[in-house]
Amino acid sequence: MNAKPVLMIIIPCYNEQEVLPVTAPVFLAKLRELAELGLISGNSRILFVDDGSSDSTWDLITKYSREDPHYIGIRQSRNRGHQKAVLAGLMEARDRCDVTISIDCDGQDDPDAMNEMIRLYLEGNEIVYGVRSERETDTWFKRTTAQSFYRIMNLFGAEIIYNHADYRLISSTVLHHFADYGEVNVFLRGMVPLVGFRSATVAYRRKERRAGRSHYPLRKMLALAADGITSMSILPIRVISFLGLIVSVFGVVSIIWAIIRQVTGHTVPGWASLVCIISMIGGIQLISLGVIGEYVGKAYMETKRRPRYIISDRTWEPFRRVYLEEKGDAAPIDSTSENAVK
Ligand code: UDP
Ligand code: MG
Repeated sequence: MNAKPVLMIIIPCYNEQEVLPVTAPVFLAKLRELAELGLISGNSRILFVDDGSSDSTWDLITKYSREDPHYIGIRQSRNRGHQKAVLAGLMEARDRCDVTISIDCDGQDDPDAMNEMIRLYLEGNEIVYGVRSERETDTWFKRTTAQSFYRIMNLFGAEIIYNHADYRLISSTVLHHFADYGEVNVFLRGMVPLVGFRSATVAYRRKERRAGRSHYPLRKMLALAADGITSMSILPIRVISFLGLIVSVFGVVSIIWAIIRQVTGHTVPGWASLVCIISMIGGIQLISLGVIGEYVGKAYMETKRRPRYIISDRTWEPFRRVYLEEKGDAAPIDSTSENAVK
């Protein structure tokens, strides 16, 4: 049998100083348990990704990493949102482990599902999706909006797994290929299935947040849905073209009808119907322009090729040295200078 896989648990954290002290030990206990069960290597790690928090989240992460070597952390240079925080963690982990599991830091996703995830991985699955089996602890509003989210997404052609959020296992093999997906508009739930490879799902019960509050109000959920659809599919543009076609056919028919009425001398004062038609077409045009604009905007952002994340600190080595080494420029220019590397 091969050596046991090195696991990295990737945990995005944004202003989570209340919940981190509660959940960090839970994740460590889980890592220990998995190692003791012989499912993973003892060299496995918990990788926190601080998404540019403004509270003391990063101080907590550095403190944990000093207390136990199984905790490590990276910090984004500013807040970039959950998706990019997870992406930064995945990319950071890809060469340092065999398999990753991404999970939120608020304790809503059940860490016990990891046992099954790792088992499925050892059986040859490269991706294992955590799927929520029930949502009774969410409020009615959150549950309904979240469920409509998946329905609408699938309706609009973004292939995503029903009731799967961002709790998933991904092997480093998949991550290696995933790194080739260079888009700036990151929507992991839609992108990961596109990589392919053998996958499986694990059902788990979604719990309540252990502390702190949600960073996903309705506004952000709607933005995520719009982002998801427009970055995964061009169906909305097709729908618009189709709509345009129908409206045009309708327009031609009404013109013919109007001419016939005119010729046969049945003209009536058609003010109301005219206003209706004009406003209807005006509305459709504005919506269509908006949707097309959404895609133009996306294309614009993509052409800029801006970095998707920037890591400003790592708990395990001084950032500057890593940067210089990556640039291949670590050798001193002047060996007599004070700063020369001895
Ligand atoms: N998060 C993040 N950056 C953000 C917002 C959230 O890294 O800009 C993290 C957050 O710390 C948590 C996860 O993403 O670990 C999910 O966020 P949250 O629990 O607020 O969302 P909900 O579960 O309510 O959808
Ligand atoms: Mg949450």
